[in-house]
Amino acid sequence: MLGLMQDYPLLVHTILDHGALNHGERELVTRSVEGPIRRTTLAEIRERALRVAKALHKEGIKQGDRVATMAWNTERHMEAWFGIMGHGAVCHTLNPRLFAEQLDYIVNHAEDRIIFVDTTFLPIMEALKDRFASVEKYIVLTDSDHMPATSLPNVVAYEDWIAAVDADYRWQKLDENSAAALCYTSGTTGNPKGVLYSHRSNVLHGLMVNQPDVFGLRSEDSVLAIVPMFHANAWALTFAVPASGAKMVMPGAGMDGKSIYELLENEKVSCTAAVPTVWLGLLQYLEQTGKKLPYLNRVVVGGAACPPMMIRKFELDFDVEVIHGWGMTEMSPVGTTGKMKHATSVLDRESQLKLKEKQGRTPFLVEMKTVNDEGEDLPRDGKTSGHLLVKGPCVSSGYFKLDEPVLTADGWFNTGDIATIDPLGFMQITDRDKDVIKSGGEWISSIEVENVAVGCPGVAEAAVIGLPHPKWSERPLLIIVKEADAELDDQSVLAYLDGKIAKWWMPDDVVFVEEIPHTATGKIQKMELRSRFSDFEFSS
Ligand code: ADP
Repeated sequence: MLGLMQDYPLLVHTILDHGALNHGERELVTRSVEGPIRRTTLAEIRERALRVAKALHKEGIKQGDRVATMAWNTERHMEAWFGIMGHGAVCHTLNPRLFAEQLDYIVNHAEDRIIFVDTTFLPIMEALKDRFASVEKYIVLTDSDHMPATSLPNVVAYEDWIAAVDADYRWQKLDENSAAALCYTSGTTGNPKGVLYSHRSNVLHGLMVNQPDVFGLRSEDSVLAIVPMFHANAWALTFAVPASGAKMVMPGAGMDGKSIYELLENEKVSCTAAVPTVWLGLLQYLEQTGKKLPYLNRVVVGGAACPPMMIRKFELDFDVEVIHGWGMTEMSPVGTTGKMKHATSVLDRESQLKLKEKQGRTPFLVEMKTVNDEGEDLPRDGKTSGHLLVKGPCVSSGYFKLDEPVLTADGWFNTGDIATIDPLGFMQITDRDKDVIKSGGEWISSIEVENVAVGCPGVAEAAVIGLPHPKWSERPLLIIVKEADAELDDQSVLAYLDGKIAKWWMPDDVVFVEEIPHTATGKIQKMELRSRFSDFEFSS
């Protein structure tokens, strides 16, 4: 027997309808690409998003067509997102940090018909325009006063383009399983792969992160969304914020410590989210200026392991709660958050801070387990590490235009991460499976050694890779970028590590480099490091 409730499809634009109707006065504040701070409201965003949808219709864009954006987090980018998705087209976010060859591949693979682009990224588009076979039009996210000269064909300023239509338009009637958005994973090997979100998965993900033990957004919050919309949906904030009626603050291109601090202070931001490197910049700025964070009460740190020192600084020096999160593009992207729970309230502060180093526990709508190489389930004992598998309505079941199966026979997605899960449900990543160091038949966690090494005074960044070893099969090499003027040598770093990690995890050597290579989403490129140091010989 079926239930007798309404068949009400979960569609992304209904979030904006709800936000505009019930919180229409709520502000969105942007540090514009042109420079000044711009203020608008949820009601205006909806009105302009409807104009985007109508203008796309005029351009002949049909349901399922791909329309791309290469843009900072701004209110115009939000309008474009909701307009594209509400029109039934697929919003394809392009990461400007990708290599030209990757962008060439992605745009052609997605067959994007229109690209919305910020003025900052015009040179990237101009260099690639002759290779973009499917692109018919470029819409520059600015007004005619700020429109630069450009060699792009069929190009128009966004404000002129939407001024040509009114907002008398309706969102498309769609099946909730229709594709809404497309984001390619940068992929360290092979071509990038397209993760195709549906309206349903995006709405559910927005609701999921609004649960109190995830980001827990409320209408009273002021949220600074630093994590880019081109980096896995700004961790769902573009949906979660208007759904909650919170104030949305967007940094545009200003990611440095001072610019971020100004927004935190002036907009009385209560919750914010970004990768660790952004927080390093802010913490340095706070240290130099002696400023405090009176309004901020929680900071989400994810995309890479949050260094223990960062947890301690935010929590102890600034009285800001750290929510350490883990996820991936294929998971929409949030998979876990490290909020304390009832059972952890008996722990003392020190033990709680230690627990926050783990990547956290799953909210409702994510299932997670670890398995061994044979695919057998492993215990949740906090010690046994294995392949981390996930399941849920916001997890990929395949990649765009790729036929190969991505799920196990019983429907699990292999994250490619190696992790432990403890009896309270807290998961800890020890490595990517590709980066794991196998020494004497046991695994050394490169992430844990890196976490300790960045705590060493004078170390700006650390990476640990495994290199072949005749006796142990692999041994760890520690690669370090020093802070400017730091007095450090291999012996002082090893002395610092001594006693903080297991003896057999101690790196066999330490090398100092000018720079550690990163991927487009800010992750250390271990493959590149392994090939760079492939001829390295351990001194002992
Ligand atoms: P995102 O775009 O959200 O960074 P990617 O798909 O590019 O996601 O990368 C996901 C991978 O990033 C994860 O599988 C994991 O290896 C790593 N990662 C994400 N968050 C964390 C974290 N908090 N700690 C350690 N690794 C993390």
